[in-house]
Amino acid sequence: MLDEHEYQRYDRQIALKCVDIEGQERLKATRILVIGAGGLGSAAAPYLASSGVGHITISDFDKVELSNLHRQTCFTENDIGRYKSEAMCDRLLTNNSHISCVPITSKQSSQLLTEAIIEHDLVLDCTDNKPTRELINEICWQQKTLLISGSAIRTEGQVGVFTANKNEACYQCISSQFSDAPSSCVMSGILPPVVGIIGSMQALIAINSIIAPNSVVTNAFYYFDGLSMEWIPYKVKPAPACKICG
Ligand SMILES: [Zn+2]
Repeated sequence: MLDEHEYQRYDRQIALKCVDIEGQERLKATRILVIGAGGLGSAAAPYLASSGVGHITISDFDKVELSNLHRQTCFTENDIGRYKSEAMCDRLLTNNSHISCVPITSKQSSQLLTEAIIEHDLVLDCTDNKPTRELINEICWQQKTLLISGSAIRTEGQVGVFTANKNEACYQCISSQFSDAPSSCVMSGILPPVVGIIGSMQALIAINSIIAPNSVVTNAFYYFDGLSMEWIPYKVKPAPACKICG
């Protein structure tokens, strides 16, 4: 149930037919795991918190560095040297004291990651490398947990929605077509608003999946070109030979 302060706080979104009081209560009852507190997490997590998602866990073992600040907008110069997950939780709770936020600062083994995913309703993958994304996908598939996967590099980004339902694609179905060569924002660079757009899109899909589950497009993969401003949607087909879902 929402209290008087929450009704006031969320008034402008409760006014939406697609949210209403019922949707707002569902947001409050939802637990989201955000894996990665970099640029994508910095964009996605504040919207989840300000929208009233009741519990958010932030998992990241990195600490804030000066070179993060141009795109990881949750952090300030005072956060340099702090664990990103702790600094991000502080930032979210400063905005909204009605929610709970728990940081995970240790590196997650497959076992620990599984335990964390089991405790949440959906996962936002905001990490920065393919092997970690594939591991998160494998566990989400096993646990039948909705996965909203984002990535951004240079001037482009991608968002994928994977529902872990039979006859629907998983992240591995498409990632097997990507290069295994390591690439990162450190090596290739990144234009800051691009991670903001991709992270915001992840938050939007997450909120939609809570307030209007039937609106979530399955087998969906979106490519964003930050120079031409084009969004290109793809329908992903399950790969029959996929080692996770095939
Ligand atoms: Zn697959």
